[in-house]
Amino acid sequence: LRRFYDPLDEMAMFANAYSSATAALEKISGLLEEQPDVREPESPVDLPASDRGRAVTFSRVAFRYSADGPVVLPEFDLAIPAGQTVALVGPTGAGKSTLAKLVARFYDPSSGSVRLDGVDLRELSDSALRAAVVMVTQENFLFSGSVADNIALGRPGASRSEIESAAGAVGAHEFISRLPEGYGTDVRKRGGRLSAGQRQMVAFARAFLADPSVLVLDEATSSLDIPTERAVQGALESVLADRTALIIAHRLSTVLIADRVLVIDDGRVVEDGSPAELIAESGRFAALHSRWRDSLV
Ligand code: ADP
Repeated sequence: LRRFYDPLDEMAMFANAYSSATAALEKISGLLEEQPDVREPESPVDLPASDRGRAVTFSRVAFRYSADGPVVLPEFDLAIPAGQTVALVGPTGAGKSTLAKLVARFYDPSSGSVRLDGVDLRELSDSALRAAVVMVTQENFLFSGSVADNIALGRPGASRSEIESAAGAVGAHEFISRLPEGYGTDVRKRGGRLSAGQRQMVAFARAFLADPSVLVLDEATSSLDIPTERAVQGALESVLADRTALIIAHRLSTVLIADRVLVIDDGRVVEDGSPAELIAESGRFAALHSRWRDSLV
């Protein structure tokens, strides 16, 4: 457990040193990840208004982590329409998290471009990008502080009622209210320790409050019991509504709510279709689907 909590403590110190709203937001997106090696433009472009997600486009994206490192994405093309929920599946090392990190601009492509509603991510100000794209990963489910603080990171300065309504929207209000000190419960204190499913729900409440047009989610691998899985699933569905989502999916139930599944292997899309279409094709996804299903019975 120490290994898990130490970085959180460091982040808490970081947060205290920089109390501005921007720092808190950067913390959510960049925490425990490699420092983004990206620069802000001198004259940023504004994104058009959107209330139903944004189109995400990869155009001939090639990517390697270092100039002399292996090519992770040789030439990646992908068009995700606004509002679509896309599940990424595929073996470890296939490039799923690299794709996710490119959408959140933790890195810039080595060549080609990643665009939001046609605007190259490199043309956006940091704050516009952070408002548009939120990344939720296992590492940033919880930070130190109270449950309310953890949710408020989604929108620094949010009122208690905004925090509670975000929690309510994802179905987390009830369990939070039953914690020893409710929303004030310190997530690191005895009694405040949340279960794996509860941690995810708090992270979803934070994302709901942040209200990005694009959500990038690296789903937790830990297995949950059935009622918890249902609750997490419900929270996820609430947070997906009216936005574009890219999910590195580890659970069958998540893949099945996606509009579209991409099977990624070796930096390429090897299957692309709705879950039903891919199951009917009897290819890689169909095999994965039947293994997943068998493991549930
Ligand atoms: P997946 O998410 O599908 O497991 P990743 O995107 O994490 O795949 O990894 C794709 C490839 O990039 C792998 O070969 C991995 O070793 C490499 N890789 C991932 N992160 C880094 C990094 N920070 N530095 C160098 N190579 C990396």
